Amino acid sequence: MDHFRRIGQLRRRLTKAGLSGLLVTHPPDVRYLSGFTGSSAALAVTRRAARLFSDGRYTAQAPEEVEAAQVQIVSTSPAVSAVEWLAAQPGIELAGFDPAWTTVADLARWKAALPFRLRRTFLSALAAPPVEPLRCIKDEDELSAMTEAALLGCKLFDHVLGFIWPGMAEIEVAAEIEHRARLLGAEGMSFETIVASGARSALPHGRATTARLPRRGFLTLDFGVILKGYCSDMTRTVHLGTPRDKERSAYHAVLEAQEAAVAAVGPGVRCGDVDEAARGILRKAGLADAFSHSTGHGVGLEIHEPPRIGAEQTTRLVPGMVVTIEPGVYLAPRFGIRIEDMVAVTQSGGQVLTPAPKALIEL
Ligand code: ZN
Ligand code: ZN
Repeated sequence: MDHFRRIGQLRRRLTKAGLSGLLVTHPPDVRYLSGFTGSSAALAVTRRAARLFSDGRYTAQAPEEVEAAQVQIVSTSPAVSAVEWLAAQPGIELAGFDPAWTTVADLARWKAALPFRLRRTFLSALAAPPVEPLRCIKDEDELSAMTEAALLGCKLFDHVLGFIWPGMAEIEVAAEIEHRARLLGAEGMSFETIVASGARSALPHGRATTARLPRRGFLTLDFGVILKGYCSDMTRTVHLGTPRDKERSAYHAVLEAQEAAVAAVGPGVRCGDVDEAARGILRKAGLADAFSHSTGHGVGLEIHEPPRIGAEQTTRLVPGMVVTIEPGVYLAPRFGIRIEDMVAVTQSGGQVLTPAPKALIEL
């Protein structure tokens, strides 16, 4: 990953915004810009220099991972040290920070570390996030890591199909997915694995419980792995036993909606129009009210990133963005269905990164 290029891009944005310094504390932003994977660090960027502050636990790791910034190990708070360093740089009147990742307590501590004359004016809460727009557009290295993570997810789905049996607890299914994920090289799961069976499939976020899989009913599996820091995310809903007509027709409506939204993905397309591609089909099927969330979200170093694929979102898709397409219907207390793929925006359309089967599987 070319961190020099990323910091260069960030500097151009800072110059445009009239900022001479920036403090970055959100760990995924720090990782994106510097390559540092630890949990405690702050990155200070000026027009001339970039310096990563971390603590004694990372004395060996930080210089090994970070090339594009100088590394300084400190015995106090890395962020406070970064603020002090920024204030001491010549020609910097103002340093920006991202208020979305700054607590009121953080800000008070940073201000207290400044010379009195700078306390009111030096730190400036940015109106727009400084790193997020860069992270939104994935480069070749990121796309290949995400493709690998997505394919690992597909392998796990294929594996777990042979493992599922009525009477087994949902947590056993989750444990099998997670155990196998680690054996196949995943650094971790990108979020708490969702295994929702029978009536519980009507819960959009039904975390795996001790509930037993029914002989007959839907089973929703929503999971993702982390590879090289990047998250995957996919959902498949399968049916145990033979589905009833209503279940079958609802499944087909969700699948049609999901495929329409996948087909709508392309450069220049508004996120709201992708959402509408799915929502319109579910509306026609009389299931509009049962589709109670957005169609999808960006994914990358974090499981939920911009852009949001939701109703009336005017953000336009750009090649290099990776988004999920995951319409669902939730008909409590009977059943629910969701189908989710990861899709990379290309120059000409969208490329599905999760090619696991979507036709209704009856186990
Ligand atoms: Zn998901
Ligand atoms: Zn998702």
